[in-house]
Amino acid sequence: MRYAIVSDIHANLEALTAVFEAIDSERVHKIVSLGDLVGYYSNPDECLKLVRERVVESVAGNHDRAAVGLKEPTWFSDSAKRGIAWTRGHLTAASAQFLATLPLINLIDQRFLIVHGALHPRPNEDVYLTSRAEVSKSFRALGCMDPKVDLCFFGHTHRSVVYESRDGTISKIDAEEVALRPGAQYLLNPGSVGQSRDRDPRASFLVFDADRARVRFHRVAYDVAACHRKARETGLIADEGARGTPRGWTGYWIHGAKRIVRRAWPGA
Ligand code: ZN
Repeated sequence: MRYAIVSDIHANLEALTAVFEAIDSERVHKIVSLGDLVGYYSNPDECLKLVRERVVESVAGNHDRAAVGLKEPTWFSDSAKRGIAWTRGHLTAASAQFLATLPLINLIDQRFLIVHGALHPRPNEDVYLTSRAEVSKSFRALGCMDPKVDLCFFGHTHRSVVYESRDGTISKIDAEEVALRPGAQYLLNPGSVGQSRDRDPRASFLVFDADRARVRFHRVAYDVAACHRKARETGLIADEGARGTPRGWTGYWIHGAKRIVRRAWPGA
């Protein structure tokens, strides 16, 4: 069984269309989403229509819940707040209903878990899995799950990464393709479809081949300028240029290395 894992689409129709085209050539059996389907950009209903046609399961992201009033965007950035206010006024009733019913965690085919943020202190859409302390806590939570699974996919940070826990050691793996080792646990982030926050403006997703126990990260070029032009016309963004990452955010080059690098994490 092959799964495409997508996350953080954020109503970016240009990116989503390009990613679905790329997925079509990957012979996957199911597409799974890790949430944040809306927010930031200007095609929420168009994206949700495609998602509902093609994605078998999704969880709720913080932007999805804020967009339908299940939480207030109190701690969101100014641009994120703008996106939520605009999205609340432009969702169809069917789209809002779909977002409102998304769960915070889901178990897919008894094989792996999906969440938007983290597994601790409970499955949630708010905690960023970026620090060693937070990653350790989510690995402990993963070890307590029933039924027991060794994999959990998460989103929210908009940065692709693989964390491995094996024999009490947590490693961060930077590679385009990763072989999952027996006896290890994994927390994996496919990166963002709609709003990359590393130095690569292309859309990001991953393919998990369950039979071969491998994941492979993919980057897909799309018309970033067209998405941003529409967002400017609707007042969602002031001016972000055409790099895919709004000004003021910094990022990391995750997939620069062609060879597999396993190193103690956090490393040098
Ligand atoms: Zn997001």
